[in-house]
Amino acid sequence: MNYEPFLSAQGGRLRESAIRKMGALMAQTKDLVSFAPGYPAEDLFAWEALREIAHELLTGQDGKVLQYGATRGYRPLLDVVVGLMAERGIRSSVEQVIVTTGSQQGLDLVARVLCDPGDVLLVELPSYVGAISAFQNLGAELVGVPQESDGVDLDALASTLARLRAAGRRVKGLYTVPNFQNPTGLLVSQAKRRALLEWAAREDLLLIEDDPYRDLYFEDVTSAADTRPIAADDHEGRVIYLSSFSKTLAPGFRTAWLSAPAPLAARFELAKQSVDLCTSAFDQRMISEACRRGVLTAQLPRLRAAYGAKRRVMEAALTEHLAGRVTWPSPRGGFFLWTRLPDGVDATALLPVAVRHGVIYVTGDAFFVNGEGAAFIRLAFSAPSHERIQEGVRRLAAAITEVASTSARVPVSSPAAR
Ligand code: PMP
Repeated sequence: MNYEPFLSAQGGRLRESAIRKMGALMAQTKDLVSFAPGYPAEDLFAWEALREIAHELLTGQDGKVLQYGATRGYRPLLDVVVGLMAERGIRSSVEQVIVTTGSQQGLDLVARVLCDPGDVLLVELPSYVGAISAFQNLGAELVGVPQESDGVDLDALASTLARLRAAGRRVKGLYTVPNFQNPTGLLVSQAKRRALLEWAAREDLLLIEDDPYRDLYFEDVTSAADTRPIAADDHEGRVIYLSSFSKTLAPGFRTAWLSAPAPLAARFELAKQSVDLCTSAFDQRMISEACRRGVLTAQLPRLRAAYGAKRRVMEAALTEHLAGRVTWPSPRGGFFLWTRLPDGVDATALLPVAVRHGVIYVTGDAFFVNGEGAAFIRLAFSAPSHERIQEGVRRLAAAITEVASTSARVPVSSPAAR
């Protein structure tokens, strides 16, 4: 049966995320070293503390643990979130916060509430692939703005907006990941964060600030001021701020939050009501208790040390096996090395060869809304052990060497023909 005629415009538009597709490929291949999904390391989860909390929650004494709950979220968790935001310098109140089923849901709610089909959101080039699919699946049109090493290119931002407005397009705002961006690992400078806020005020636009990696900085981020969110200096209500417990406690709880000016938060709440009524009560209790008992606070130094060490292992392995052939900006936090391949090696052409050698990554084009990115791969160092990182990089180097030697044998066309 042909179901196409039954699909709505939106249903027909839905696309699978490039990373989810990788998951299927991974499942089919044995002994693959996966640098593809940005998964936290499972051995770093606070298993013991979480087991204890789960045990206490499931005694049956409190039926609400397994009951439906308020759409906004479990009240003690909302209070926890307001406290976490205050530690990050953001003043908020429970009227502004909504617990979401992962930040992924937050991104979906933002697009649902802000964007009609054809409305434009500006995104960084490259940008987080999950946000790209959430926004595009709801009909938003994404227009990319190039980034420099300290964040979005402000001149390009101004000229892109002017061009879109001259063409009569409705632009709603900019989506940005200022702390250890997925995929580049970049940290946006404080000067640029202020400039973005001024730009949003001047142009009457919103900023969507997505901040799941903020706490995962390495030893060379010396000051909390380096990661101060844009929302902390927002006095006009221009910023919708999202963050998550996925990278710090565990993504399986699907517990995250968004904070927005109260009138927008009320809209997000209504949208959430029709999507899932509420985030899992049990998951929220687990997270809330973990925060109350200091499990989160105790986790953070461990995570910073462990992920910082994994970054060093991956960088050392890349230097050992691929020195001078690949380059990357050394990330000061987060999960990723954004790696530029040698000239002439295309990330998509390399992928099947890499899989044959037993390693997988995400191709750079998945993160670009303008078709660029063929020269880049995203390597997540977060999940594999040190040994697997070393082995995976060795395999990657073998794959790159194989592809580079075949492309070198292909006769190069004359410049006039290119
Ligand atoms: N935003 C960014 C930038 C991310 O990297 C991720 C996870 N990969 C998410 C949002 C979604 O996180 P979650 O839904 O698990 O909270």
